[in-house]
Amino acid sequence: MASLHQAVLLLGPPGSGKGTQGKLLGAIPGIFHHSSGEVFRNLDPSSKIGAVFAEYSQHGELVPDEVTIDVWRENIDHQEQAGHYLKGRDLLVLDGIPRNANQATILDADLHVHRIVHLWCDNEDAFVQRLKKRAIKEGRSDDANEAVIRNRFAVYRRQTQPVLDHYPAGLISKVDALGTHTRVLRDMLSVISPIVESLQQA
Ligand code: ADP
Repeated sequence: MASLHQAVLLLGPPGSGKGTQGKLLGAIPGIFHHSSGEVFRNLDPSSKIGAVFAEYSQHGELVPDEVTIDVWRENIDHQEQAGHYLKGRDLLVLDGIPRNANQATILDADLHVHRIVHLWCDNEDAFVQRLKKRAIKEGRSDDANEAVIRNRFAVYRRQTQPVLDHYPAGLISKVDALGTHTRVLRDMLSVISPIVESLQQA
């Protein structure tokens, strides 16, 4: 349906590479990458919503759903109006949203979800190490503190993993997140490129 966003969801714990891979995918014409964490981090910290984000993210907690969905809709509309994103034609790769079952239910009104790419690994410590490295490189305060990192994983297990149950099992593609960038990207492209091609030919 033209009124829905044609979407693929990237789902995986903190440090699984959603942002890194999402950015690479977003460089391809026909794909638009949206990272909810990045949109939040770009808010003016002295604005009301910027302050709400800081309050929750510094503890590794999720921002309340209503605020999150409002920020998401506003940003996507803005990207569309600015001509950066062509709704219905471009594949929207969502990274970091929906982040719990309630957000997934709300977004059912906005999205046609073609696929969920589940970035996984069976060794949480590897992801923790990645986060610590990134915290130093990018100055991310939420990932500089081990207790906050552990809480981000707990929040992921408790709130985000159930998002997988919201969608039919047949829509989920598991990709091993512990490979090289090129291998993970290749696996993701093998899932995503047929969808991009079908949107462009429609
Ligand atoms: P990462 O990419 O490292 O997994 P994000 O950058 O996506 O983490 O998110 C950073 C913080 O932004 C989260 O801990 C949370 O506070 C907030 N956030 C991002 N996306 C959402 C969302 N969909 N719902 C609620 N909070 C969110």
